[in-house]
Amino acid sequence: MAYKVYFLTLGCKVNSYESAAIAKLLSQEGFEETDDPKDCDVYVVNTCAVTAEADRKSRQMIRKARRVAPQAVVVAMGCHTEMCKDEDGADITVGTSDRPSLVPLLLQKLKIREDSMEEDQLDAGTRFFEYGAVLLQEGTRAVVKIEDGCNNFCTYCIIPYSRGRVRSRSREAVLHEIEDLVKRGYTEFVITGIHLCSYEKELGHDSTALGELLQEIAAIEGVERIRLGSLEPYSMTDQLIGMLKENGKICPHFHLSLQSGSDSVLKRMNRKYDTALFRDVVRKLREAFPRASFTTDMICGFPGETEEEHKDSVAFAKEIGFTHIHVFPFSPREGTKAYAMPDQIDGGVKNRRTAQLRAVSDEMEEQRAREFIGETVEVLVEEFGDDGNFEGYCREYIRVSGTCEDAELSSGDLLEGQITETNGFSVCGKDFRKKNRK
Ligand code: SF4
Repeated sequence: MAYKVYFLTLGCKVNSYESAAIAKLLSQEGFEETDDPKDCDVYVVNTCAVTAEADRKSRQMIRKARRVAPQAVVVAMGCHTEMCKDEDGADITVGTSDRPSLVPLLLQKLKIREDSMEEDQLDAGTRFFEYGAVLLQEGTRAVVKIEDGCNNFCTYCIIPYSRGRVRSRSREAVLHEIEDLVKRGYTEFVITGIHLCSYEKELGHDSTALGELLQEIAAIEGVERIRLGSLEPYSMTDQLIGMLKENGKICPHFHLSLQSGSDSVLKRMNRKYDTALFRDVVRKLREAFPRASFTTDMICGFPGETEEEHKDSVAFAKEIGFTHIHVFPFSPREGTKAYAMPDQIDGGVKNRRTAQLRAVSDEMEEQRAREFIGETVEVLVEEFGDDGNFEGYCREYIRVSGTCEDAELSSGDLLEGQITETNGFSVCGKDFRKKNRK
């Protein structure tokens, strides 16, 4: 009988990718994934450590796993466990640097493979660990990770300590994986990494290496759309923007990490840009992609943030006109410089500023949806009914629902049609048609 494995994944897209990757490795060993946490032999908690709150939740979820599935082998993996090995009471704990050892450790624990431990000592801390092809969104969108680690040391972030320095996946492996996914019907690819623009930095390359890789991906027959994960503003050189424009398959949705719209706060965060540079990058991207959507992450209540700095931050966010802002109240993360900074902001103040910025984000998101009324968009179908109703995302990453004239819909179809109205943050249209693929 196959062992059943349950995954609880916290945190970012990279973590989702890695859970899916581990699920795939386990399936090759005969494990079956289950949705039922109570009825599993292995309970994997993929943890996050991006903030102190994420740390707390990670610990809580590991304890919960014990409670919910007392019979299971509890595995803790990911960023939190990298920092707090052996502290949380899981049966097996692997950080980001030693995750290749997870499968053999697990097999040993379950007493189904005696000789597996020799493979444990892989040097994944210094090279990219190859998972092989990973499918995340059945039939439509696949997430492909090309890079791990970061060299930047922003003062609030634990990632360079927990995930280590930049390591890139080989171009051959990335292209091979995408070719494989295309054969399985995938047409949209989300290219992710912890610090995407640092692709091949360890080989001495600049951000054009990412542009080159994206050109090679675009050249694969069957690849229709390429989305990019989080991008660092200062890496968006004229050359890279030019390459993205020429690419032809890049979706005009850019997640440019801002964190604060106040130059003095950016300095204290050790971010390597200021608002002038950010504004300039957005302008250039809009020139290259006139209908581009911009999303971002912002932190409220960074140590020492004054009311004035907060106001500057909100004003700058409005000026850019983001489609959506992921707003986080600052939470001090032990082991980072910001943890020990003076003038930590009171929790109530942080929450008020966070709520204010979230309200601004909501207003902008609704406004952005309204801008699409009358526009023709291309939608990749994710959900559909027999009656021609469908839902999916347009290239600008706005959720679209509508009806299609062609009766036979399936997920992964590309449709084209006009937006007629909005529904909060999403948009709706009628009489869409199937689009001929390029
Ligand atoms: S760029 Fe800064 S915030 Fe992003 S992973 Fe690196 S250190 Fe963390």
